[in-house]
Amino acid sequence: MTRSILATLFSLLICADSQLALAQLSPDTTQIRASAVRNGLHMFMGAGGNLAVSIGDDGVLIVDDQYAEMTAKIDAAIAELTDEPLRYVINSHWHWDHTGGNENYGRAGKTIVAHDNTYVRMSTDQFVAAFNFNQPASPEAALPAITFNDTATLRFNDLTIRMIHVPNAHTDSDAFVHFTEANVVHTGDVYVTSAYPFIDSSTGGTLDGEIAALELLGEITDEDTIVIPGHGEISDRAGAMKTLAMLKGMKKITLEAIADGKTLKQFLDSNPTQTYDPDFSMRADQGKVFATRLYQELSN
Ligand SMILES: [Zn+2]
Repeated sequence: MTRSILATLFSLLICADSQLALAQLSPDTTQIRASAVRNGLHMFMGAGGNLAVSIGDDGVLIVDDQYAEMTAKIDAAIAELTDEPLRYVINSHWHWDHTGGNENYGRAGKTIVAHDNTYVRMSTDQFVAAFNFNQPASPEAALPAITFNDTATLRFNDLTIRMIHVPNAHTDSDAFVHFTEANVVHTGDVYVTSAYPFIDSSTGGTLDGEIAALELLGEITDEDTIVIPGHGEISDRAGAMKTLAMLKGMKKITLEAIADGKTLKQFLDSNPTQTYDPDFSMRADQGKVFATRLYQELSN
């Protein structure tokens, strides 16, 4: 299997929307679907992770850039909205379906900004055990030029853009990007709609970090906040809080099963995700996959 097919399969596994999943079968044939948000912000969907796009007098800023094959399509979608140049690329985390366009943008002289660990992960070979997937180190041009450890603030297009690291959540490199005046947050893959979140334990993701990150999201948002998830359709605070409640519920169920001495098979046979599957599973086996990962993490 080629790397690009593997990358696509990876996206399918964490992708939230079944129609989008079908579209993600080929980054080569997927088109960008742009929708206006507010305050000059737009959301782009395509192959790989969702983009937040800020357009205004200062130029263009994007959060995430999908795959290298999507760069020309992203640029074309931007050109339909403005003649201003792209200046900044922010990465929500290190995964290749969110950073695959970095090399193109780095070579084009764009400034890439990300958490310190995105730089670390992208500059060295990575292995994601959940998919038996190797991601080789990225070339120099793909690496973020500016990195931050906790938070960073960028003032652009009349927006205060806060990047907030959330430790050990989906990975160890995640940052929320909060467009404060617009009351819009891009969450990266800490939150995906209509699917179980993927906690990438190979690169620092943990259930407790996921829970803490979504609790923080609850604190920095309100009922009017627009939430751009890592994958899937545009969402809001209530959607993200539903995921938080599911994670807390599943943590409790899983810990009880472990305390009762249940084996993984006994745990799965009890169908522990049945109340959550209608909202979070897009295929029959996804609840089992999610429950298995939780059991493995929490029994260690
Ligand atoms: Zn990811």
